[in-house]
Amino acid sequence: MKSKSQYFNEDHELFRQSVRQFMEKEIVPHTEEWETGRRIPLSIFKRMGDLGFLGLLYSEEYGGVNADFWFSVVFLEELARCGMGGFATAVSVHQFMAINHISKAGSVELKHNYLMPAILGEKVAALGITEPNTGSDVSAIHTTAVREGDEFIVNGSKTFISNGTYGDFITLAVKTKLDAGQAQNGISLLVVDLEAEGVSRTKLNKMGWHSSDTAEINFDEVRVPVENLIGVENFGFYYLMESLQLERLVASIMAVSGAQWALDQTLHYLNEREAFGRKIGKFQAIRHKIADIATEIEVAREFVYSTCWKFTQGEVAVKECSMAKLFTSEIQKRVVDSCSQFLGGYGYMEDYPNRDVRVGTIAGGTSEIMREIISKIVVDAVGYKSVY
Ligand SMILES: Cc1cc2nc3c(=O)[nH]c(=O)nc-3n(C[C@H](O)[C@H](O)[C@H](O)COP(=O)(O)OP(=O)(O)OC[C@H]3O[C@@H](n4cnc5c(N)ncnc54)[C@H](O)[C@@H]3O)c2cc1C
Repeated sequence: MKSKSQYFNEDHELFRQSVRQFMEKEIVPHTEEWETGRRIPLSIFKRMGDLGFLGLLYSEEYGGVNADFWFSVVFLEELARCGMGGFATAVSVHQFMAINHISKAGSVELKHNYLMPAILGEKVAALGITEPNTGSDVSAIHTTAVREGDEFIVNGSKTFISNGTYGDFITLAVKTKLDAGQAQNGISLLVVDLEAEGVSRTKLNKMGWHSSDTAEINFDEVRVPVENLIGVENFGFYYLMESLQLERLVASIMAVSGAQWALDQTLHYLNEREAFGRKIGKFQAIRHKIADIATEIEVAREFVYSTCWKFTQGEVAVKECSMAKLFTSEIQKRVVDSCSQFLGGYGYMEDYPNRDVRVGTIAGGTSEIMREIISKIVVDAVGYKSVY
């Protein structure tokens, strides 16, 4: 019998069933087409918007559901079980990373013009922080936005941007104060239309996450109305740092669920496949490794859930979110590698997308950066407060 969860109630489980059914019927059958086509159709965002899947955290006033965070956890867990890391990335970046800033700090106009269509799946959103010359060191970005009357003039480039090729708009980190004493004090967030004059995009080739489009985007004298500034000018770095906690939690939830999915696929194979007259799952060398993997996943899941709980209490759980991202992405990488081994030759086939997992310890903050943050808190006793 399934034990009662301290986090999920019956409504969450009903929602899980409906998301799972949707994934099985409307997403998984398209895996080959979307992976080989290197994109997902924009119409699937509309479909998910119609189903209420894209505004789980956001206000009903703008078309959202305003559900408690555990509905988002359920959604992300199911998203990560579709076997298409690219699809999961496209949808999670759109909902939890790009439009989150507009919801939290954007003006009513920005919410009407961008948040609402994004929640409805009519517009697809990207988040632009990383640049060709800097990623981990966000304070060192070079893209500038210089005020000229009622507009900002944006110049610079971003790279590795998910949803950047086919998306409609981007939440863009720019330098608005070029002579800021401390570099992080001169960064702002702007909403920029990706069809605007002066924007050019180049699609990048990746080793995995094939169905997600990833772009390098250049901004050449792009005119952006000052109304598109999110929140307070020169405060963008602090908005980014705070929202990275949600981003890392999202990555952790999906890493655990993705690892569990890989284990489930492998267990099915081990219980069917025979060698030397026995099921492969009967060999002790394999059973003990499976026991280790199952233990790691279970421990990781509980830690992620307890961090989610802190998040629901409004805690700025920088230490826990960083630990969760570090631990779960490293575990997923190891688990999927072991599972590939247990699947023999099948583990190297396209159907088993272990290529999608490698990026987990890189994107959204590398493992080294997670260790830097954790050591600042643990060794130097640095603390963080909410900017809101
Ligand atoms: C598929 C994909 C999708 C992505 N999507 C997005 C997106 O939508 N939007 C976006 O803005 N970005 C996105 N990224 C970028 C991603 O977040 C960055 O790649 C990541 O933060 C690392 O930055 P970097 O690539 O510039 O590496 P660098 O910062 O150049 O780091 C290179 C190496 O140096 C290490 N390093 C750096 N600083 C330290 C330090 N202080 N101590 C120890 N080691 C250090 C790093 O850990 C890494 O191993 C995406 C990346 C990929 C691959």
